[in-house]
Amino acid sequence: VFILCQKELRGNIRVHCRVRPILHFDHIQGSPTTNRVHGPEESQETVFDEVKPLLTSLLDGYNVCIMAYGQTGSGKTHTMIGSRSEDPTAAVQDSQQGIIPKAANELFKLISEKPADSHTVEMSVVEVYNNEVLDLLARDEDGATVGVKREVITTCTGTSEVPCLTYELVRSSAEVMQLINSVLKLRSHSPTLVHMDSSRSHFIVTLTVSSKSPDALWWSPRCSRAASSRTSSPASSPCHSPCHSPCPSPRPGITQPPIKTKLQLVDLAGSECVGMSGVTGAALWESSCINRSLSALSDVLGALVERRPHVPYPNSKLTHLLQNAIGGDATLLIMLCVSPTQRFLAESLQSLGFGARAR
Ligand code: ADP
Ligand code: MG
Repeated sequence: VFILCQKELRGNIRVHCRVRPILHFDHIQGSPTTNRVHGPEESQETVFDEVKPLLTSLLDGYNVCIMAYGQTGSGKTHTMIGSRSEDPTAAVQDSQQGIIPKAANELFKLISEKPADSHTVEMSVVEVYNNEVLDLLARDEDGATVGVKREVITTCTGTSEVPCLTYELVRSSAEVMQLINSVLKLRSHSPTLVHMDSSRSHFIVTLTVSSKSPDALWWSPRCSRAASSRTSSPASSPCHSPCHSPCPSPRPGITQPPIKTKLQLVDLAGSECVGMSGVTGAALWESSCINRSLSALSDVLGALVERRPHVPYPNSKLTHLLQNAIGGDATLLIMLCVSPTQRFLAESLQSLGFGARAR
């Protein structure tokens, strides 16, 4: 739709697409729109305005995942993190901040309206490269951040967890961005991380919100869900296969453990089809890992849409990592990023096809 709407399209055969406004019978038919096209003129603020309600949902006890999908250069990092100046080691410009800093800002604003000390937020940052999970906040003996390999496991309650993953307590959007900028800086020149080009890896920021407030969630039917969120306790997560008891019966007057919900923010690796012919060794392995992880993601979304009993989360590290925030009553927002030019039409159509499969 986005491509077809471009006024610049020229040719003997022209195809235009006009999206009419939502009319009264759209509501009557009970089919709320889940598609939205953001034009090139839309600012970071306007895009975020549509994402904002998900933060309320997070504090209501639902896991949320927001991911950007598209070919390299289509605007995924701009959308999720923001844009930096020409200097790759520079921090993200405040005026160009993307969904991650804006979501963090909104989250802390919502938390400030809750009773004091009722919520804490912990952050982890990982990248998935060549089907391996790297903990980007892990530190060496000198306190410097290094990428350390981690495993993803399925707990006995059926959720996924990364034992020993590093979590940092964060108190503001500024602290979130400070950590992200330090990681991005590290990625741009550190020999300790295995590659230089961020578009070849999936970059995942997770904000885990722990709520101590005795709200209605504990007593609601979503209790079992709240219990499964609690199993991924970042602070107390053991390094060996954890086994957690199911949701206990609510007992008035008894202090309950904090409820945990996760906001996962994902800048996916470029979805372009890298030609396999002539590519050998590391480059071939890298491309095939990206292709396999993105098709595993598509398979998971397809299984969820078709309500299949088995969702193949463990087929790739990417989908296994995102398991708790995709499916069930979690909310997933996929931001399909496309380039506006004819040159990338095939890649843009591929991205729209991915989005179409997800709904
Ligand atoms: P990707 O992460 O998909 O490879 P980037 O986010 O790095 O792509 O975007 C490529 C370039 O386009 C960057 O210079 C970025 O600042 C710019 N860009 C992307 N989207 C926009 C936008 N909506 N408005 C202005 N510049 C953008
Ligand atoms: Mg990028």
